[in-house]
Amino acid sequence: MTIRTKLLIVLLLLSVGVMATAGIFFTFTIDRFLQDRILHELETQAAEFDYIVRSGTFDGEPSYHHLQALARAANIRLTLIDSAGTVIFESDLSPEDLPKIENHLDRPEVQAAMRTDSGTDARVSATVHKEMLYLARRIREPVSTASAYSHTALLRVGIPLTQVSDLKREVKVIVVWSSAGVLVLIIVVTIIVSGRLARPIHNMARIADEIRRGNLDQRIPIRSRDEFGRLGQSLNAMIDKLNEDIVRLKKLERVRTEFLGNVSHELRTPIFAIQGMLETLLQGAIDDPNVSRDFAERALTNTQRLNALLADLIEISRIESGDMKMSFRYFPIKDFLVSIVASMVLLAEQKQITLRLHPDTIESDVLGDKERLKQVMINLIDNAIKYTPAGGSVTVVAAASNNGVRVSVQDSGVGISAEHLPRIFERFYRVDKERSRDAGGTGLGLAIVKHIVEAHGSKVEVQSALAQGSVFSFVLRT
Ligand code: ADP
Repeated sequence: MTIRTKLLIVLLLLSVGVMATAGIFFTFTIDRFLQDRILHELETQAAEFDYIVRSGTFDGEPSYHHLQALARAANIRLTLIDSAGTVIFESDLSPEDLPKIENHLDRPEVQAAMRTDSGTDARVSATVHKEMLYLARRIREPVSTASAYSHTALLRVGIPLTQVSDLKREVKVIVVWSSAGVLVLIIVVTIIVSGRLARPIHNMARIADEIRRGNLDQRIPIRSRDEFGRLGQSLNAMIDKLNEDIVRLKKLERVRTEFLGNVSHELRTPIFAIQGMLETLLQGAIDDPNVSRDFAERALTNTQRLNALLADLIEISRIESGDMKMSFRYFPIKDFLVSIVASMVLLAEQKQITLRLHPDTIESDVLGDKERLKQVMINLIDNAIKYTPAGGSVTVVAAASNNGVRVSVQDSGVGISAEHLPRIFERFYRVDKERSRDAGGTGLGLAIVKHIVEAHGSKVEVQSALAQGSVFSFVLRT
């Protein structure tokens, strides 16, 4: 069942209930009111005729016709009864018919009036055969003896209830019709209002359904600033967020597969080389001592490359999965750099490159993870040596900077052109693939450097000019 139908049913039940109660109460009140009015009217008439009958008005006593005319003018039926119950006047009949009327002593209103001075009753009259409401009243003071009605003991006025019931019926018809009108109005208004209320909910349900099916282009139309409007806005924001997340996830997925592809490719090259060399050896080269040694050495170089690649891969996956635990401590930067430079001087000399620590290097304590920073420095110095031709120089320096100590590795090497600069920190990105491989590079060195330096809240900066050299630097907190 839709919300709209539910609303309609509830409102209809409610209004039918309210109107039925109001209708019953209203008809009841009208009944009471009419009854009271009629009784009051009858009492007034009775009092007037009492007076007329007792005193005799106009010129002398009231004649039969005179009384009859007065009763008709007042739109009532007037009956005078003597103490024995005999009707001595009846406005609806002529004097000749009077003897035919039965004794009225047994009439309930007459009985009541005898007992308590006045009484009422409503019934179908035996005399005039209409439904009548009667009020009988005892005449207390004796009527003047000259009057024709001097022996009147009781006066009775009556009016036909047909008038009253007609009026009641009219009132009921009005009540029923106006109720029906109001009901129709309520149905129409409810249909319109419930439609308006239900529309935004309906929209949201539809769009939620679309989203479930994976269609994230849908947005809920916002037409109001009420709760529905706000709900719609929140849902739209949620859909936006979902969209963003999906885009991010897709990108991550792409990066992952790309990385996997790169890794396989990087692994394949040395493995193929080793395989080729071993096959050549087995095909007979193993018996030639000169050739076999050369092949074995080249196979070893390739296993070393494989080893370096795997070491870097393990490192980068540890870093990127968030498993890298850093332990920050203060340590003297100069001592640290002295020992690293000392450990790499031999490597530099083999390539006829001068590696030195700048004499102005400051002696200051810096905050960082010494082991990780050692790896950073080795990678940077190793690169500087790799990409600097023989006869060149590599200088390491630490200098005060406005927010700590800036550590730099400067070389007089090949340099990096501006187009490549923004990408050299990407995994497996190399400006010159052959050169990198020949020099034993894995293509992961700078990616590792970037991660570690960023974990220190810093950033690697590069300045480079082709054929002039490069400077890689970062700042450590003191
Ligand atoms: P690789 O193992 O190839 O050296 P890196 O991530 O360490 O990988 O460096 C990425 C690329 O950046 C290198 O292939 C090289 O082209 C360039 N590069 C890095 N350091 C230097 C440098 N000091 N001088 C010139 N080029 C460099």
